[in-house]
Amino acid sequence: MKKKQDTVVVTAGRDPEANFGIVNPPVYHASTVLYPTLEAVKTRAQPVTYGRRGTPTTFALQDAIAELEGGYRSLVTSSGLSAVTTALLAHLKAGDHLLMTDSAYEPTRTFCNNVLKRYGVDVEFYDPRIGAGIGTILRKNTAVVFTESPGSVTFEVQDIPAIADAAHKAGATVLLDNTWASPLYFKPFEHGVDVSIQAVTKYLCGHSDVMMGAITATEEAWKKTLETHGNIGQCAAPDDVYLVLRGIRTLSVRLERHMQTGIALAEWLSKRPEVARVIHPAREDHPDHAIWKRDFTGASGLFSIELKPCSETALAAMLDGLEYFGMGYSWGGFESLIIPQYPKKMRTATQWTAEGQILRIHAGLEDIEDLKADLDAGFARLRAAA
Ligand SMILES: *Cc1c(COP(=O)(O)O)cnc(C)c1O
Repeated sequence: MKKKQDTVVVTAGRDPEANFGIVNPPVYHASTVLYPTLEAVKTRAQPVTYGRRGTPTTFALQDAIAELEGGYRSLVTSSGLSAVTTALLAHLKAGDHLLMTDSAYEPTRTFCNNVLKRYGVDVEFYDPRIGAGIGTILRKNTAVVFTESPGSVTFEVQDIPAIADAAHKAGATVLLDNTWASPLYFKPFEHGVDVSIQAVTKYLCGHSDVMMGAITATEEAWKKTLETHGNIGQCAAPDDVYLVLRGIRTLSVRLERHMQTGIALAEWLSKRPEVARVIHPAREDHPDHAIWKRDFTGASGLFSIELKPCSETALAAMLDGLEYFGMGYSWGGFESLIIPQYPKKMRTATQWTAEGQILRIHAGLEDIEDLKADLDAGFARLRAAA
């Protein structure tokens, strides 16, 4: 019988028998790796060859992520952003055309505009809701279609199977930033993705204390990915790798709670007079809810709300006094967060016309009654200052 997902979360990448029965793998700190013979030096036919290329600690994490994502193999990198940039560099060359979703994580956008363009890649942003319509903008030289679903901040859910189908017919490779759902709630390779990216920093680590990324590829997309990852010199630090392996073991219970609290907070917020709308893919009033329901098996704790127009003073009165919701960007840890966002500035292929302030919320693992009370007091301050 095929292992169920929660069992994979607990068992993936582990081999206690290889380590005296100890449950977790040891942390290898390594730069120099010795070769026993001249022949070994020449063939490099041993599993560990150089610190940067990974140790048994790294391999354990990479095996675990590959199994969770359902891909052929995985590589870890120094940050989520470096996983995005390394994957793009691996599958693009000068003269290629790149289709990039207009809802991408902002630093991903910046990399395309500031670096890829400088290296002769033709970067075109597209409407995240384009679906099969991507066929009309694919070109002979389109090498990569980059997707991120749901989109950062604005949460458009993309029709990945339709996009992948059209892209593959045109010979393009499909990359996905799968950070929001984590490998648990969206299975990229069952939906036609060739290369899946995780900001491991977020839910896989889960404790707000590690920067890391991961790239997982199909067997066909593996060779290019591995080569460029090695050429660039990507690697992740041993203690961080260990912390992420430890974080993964509780991923399914953490995510379930993030999901429940997120959905309940979204419902509560939708009834608040200060809120114009809630943007959460798991809600029936979300424009892409049907696609989310078809393709995802859960929702993480990250969503946005649009406030009814209010003054900057009122917004500051609300946010500055919150007790449990911290104002910070890197989400996916155990604590709740709230941060103002400005999607208007982040778009070129589509327009963001909503007038109200967008607040991105991360539902943490605190008691929901405390979280509601914190927001309730925040809204009272907002109204008093208006
Ligand atoms: C945070 C994030 C990243 C970047 O990850 P870092 O580890 O912070 O570099 C990339 N994509 C998405 C969707 C993210 O939320």
